[in-house]
Amino acid sequence: MPAPSVHGTYFDGQSARAHPVSLVLEDSLEITGRDLRLAWSLPDLVAGDTARPLMRVGPTGSAARVEFTDEGLAEALKERCPGLYRTDPSASGGRLRLVLWSIAAGISVIGLAVYGVPAIAVRLAPVIPAAMEARIGGAVDGQIGRLLGDPPLCDDASARAVLDRLIQRMTANGDLSVDPAVTIRRHGIANALTLPGGRVVVLSELIDKSDTPDEFAGVLAHEFGHVAAHDPMRALLAASGSSFLLSLVLGDLTGSTIIVAVGQAAISAGYSREAENAADAYSVEVMRRSGGDATALATILRRIAKDDAKDEFASLLRSHPYTAERADRIAEMAGTETVGRRILDEAEWATLKGICRNLPAKSVK
Ligand SMILES: [Zn+2]
Repeated sequence: MPAPSVHGTYFDGQSARAHPVSLVLEDSLEITGRDLRLAWSLPDLVAGDTARPLMRVGPTGSAARVEFTDEGLAEALKERCPGLYRTDPSASGGRLRLVLWSIAAGISVIGLAVYGVPAIAVRLAPVIPAAMEARIGGAVDGQIGRLLGDPPLCDDASARAVLDRLIQRMTANGDLSVDPAVTIRRHGIANALTLPGGRVVVLSELIDKSDTPDEFAGVLAHEFGHVAAHDPMRALLAASGSSFLLSLVLGDLTGSTIIVAVGQAAISAGYSREAENAADAYSVEVMRRSGGDATALATILRRIAKDDAKDEFASLLRSHPYTAERADRIAEMAGTETVGRRILDEAEWATLKGICRNLPAKSVK
């Protein structure tokens, strides 16, 4: 009994021209059309990424393809072509990329199987090149801005100078791999977010809610703790897992939906309890060393927690999960010797509190 002939369309891979052909599956896939007679070896065939019932196949290493919609032929090819669904190097843009992709996929699969994604992320975060982390941070920053409704930048010059001097003192020991880039944005939520690449976004309500400069500085120091530990990159890697590795290899990060997901995660979800505790410990150390009150972080966390019962939406406590235990631990680590110290004098603090003075009094949306 002769094998059935199926109608298909042939593309030579050079021009866009479609050639009507008939397809017959024998020992090879026979393609017959006007001035055209081909026999493709079955082990060489790979399938393109198409939606059923459309199927597109061609020999590996060649750009020539046939398309058809016959389900019987599709099933027969699936049975008889062992390599039909391997990745086609000619389709993914080259051998090197394929190799890298395979390595990334391999790491990711091993990571999932052995450690789970968060653990492999923890291992990878510190080795992501700084330039790449900076690029990702820029993209996430833009995304965060959009999610928050593009809050305007607060950058009154004299307040900015106070803030810059404060940051310099707090980071003077040089254990951060990047100089943190702190921006203040006018927004009615008391929050601070650390993004990849050492970007820290402080929302102005946090400054308004701070009774002392040390409360504000304590939160800022906590964020620097996240910078030091690369927590945003860890979160990004854990959230996106293998798709991050894939986009890393394919070189498409900034346009990716991963950035959207990470932006949302940065606002609404928190880091692990361990990461929060480590950032708290970092804050206590920085505050003590910089001449501030190391217990002030616990004070502001307790106060915002009370407010937060009223205000359900995202607050500092959403992105930095609060527990009474956390505040107690901060107070315990800080001890009593720094209580009452002030990291800025009254005049500096008053200046810093006016950092949104550059903006019109009424909110511009
Ligand atoms: Zn935190």
